[in-house]
Amino acid sequence: MRTVAPIVAERIMAELRRPIFWQGKPYEVTVSIGITYSPRHARAADVLRDADTALYRAKNKGRNRIEIFNAALGADVSERGRVEAELRSALNPTAVEAAALTLAYQPVYDLADNHLVGFEALARLHDRYGRTIAPDVFIPIAEETGLITTLGERVLDEALASLARWQHSHPDDPPATMAVNLSARQAQRADMPDLVRAALHKHHLDPTDLILELTESVLLESGASTLRQIAELHELGVNITIDDFGTGYASLRYLVDLPVSSVKVDRSFTATMIYDRTSATIVRTVANLAADLDLRCIIEGVETQEQLNALPNGVQAQGYLMGRPTAAPENTWPPEPCANS
Ligand code: C2E
Ligand code: CA
Ligand code: CA
Repeated sequence: MRTVAPIVAERIMAELRRPIFWQGKPYEVTVSIGITYSPRHARAADVLRDADTALYRAKNKGRNRIEIFNAALGADVSERGRVEAELRSALNPTAVEAAALTLAYQPVYDLADNHLVGFEALARLHDRYGRTIAPDVFIPIAEETGLITTLGERVLDEALASLARWQHSHPDDPPATMAVNLSARQAQRADMPDLVRAALHKHHLDPTDLILELTESVLLESGASTLRQIAELHELGVNITIDDFGTGYASLRYLVDLPVSSVKVDRSFTATMIYDRTSATIVRTVANLAADLDLRCIIEGVETQEQLNALPNGVQAQGYLMGRPTAAPENTWPPEPCANS
């Protein structure tokens, strides 16, 4: 049974994918399938719920695919319901005793001169009792429920408002960029370029002030129309970054082919590069290739001086060593004033 279900699902997909002709034109159907294996006496409602969870995941990962339910996917359905309710209240301006969605900003430094180049905006959700819910928990739920649309607009608006404010309050040495994360569903929105343009216009910012971070897997799974939109934003001057590079299946070739201006090496490589030669080689290779291709390379997750010392020349860096994400970041790194300042 366990091996048969995906084969059956593949066959269903293959059948349904055949183009349908209507008035002489071919129309393609895409299929998302969720599979769950259930014990013999499971309740029908539970089986359907788990299959539905897997289906949501399949859609969430870009549709047109099969996902199999596992315990992690379904981890406590009631907890998911609670997080969803908190998220809804945080996004509802009229809710009383509501949860709060805020932003934390983490600095990014250019290691050539230890200069602050900008910030990455990271969403924070505090439930109605003030307890923090981790982004790794609420972002996937926001995606599955469609709440990511409102959340994403809020994040973009608030992050750009903060950048505009800081640029204004530090005219001699303004932070140059604000990086905002985009999830699969946000990237797929047909009005994404208009939305970004409107937000930049509202805060009197240039497209080059904004960085949109899309993970390697979101970029790879994007269809032609999503990629066209990303290319449109890139041509407008918005920086596009491949986030979490090295965790998916992207070949180095994608650095040339995709409409991106920078690559962010996943923090799992930074964490292990001191004692793992493969990680160190990957960091060095991606940094060298990025330099050759005129792309910026950001190394994230820098936690120790040893890691910092081991980084290749020409990269930018972000991590707890230089600054944790906070609501009101201060530029206190490097701790000692530079010799030439
Ligand atoms: P990400 O885009 O890879 O963000 C970097 C994550 O690494 C953040 O986790 C940050 O707090 C953490 N980090 C930074 N420096 C260090 C370090 O030195 N060591 C370690 N161990 N971790 C470090 P966070 O804030 O929990 O966010 C997790 C993920 O949630 C983000 O990963 C991003 O994918 C997603 N996310 C956060 N905010 C948003 C948002 O506004 N929209 C979307 N679509 N996704 C978001
Ligand atoms: Ca990111
Ligand atoms: Ca990342």
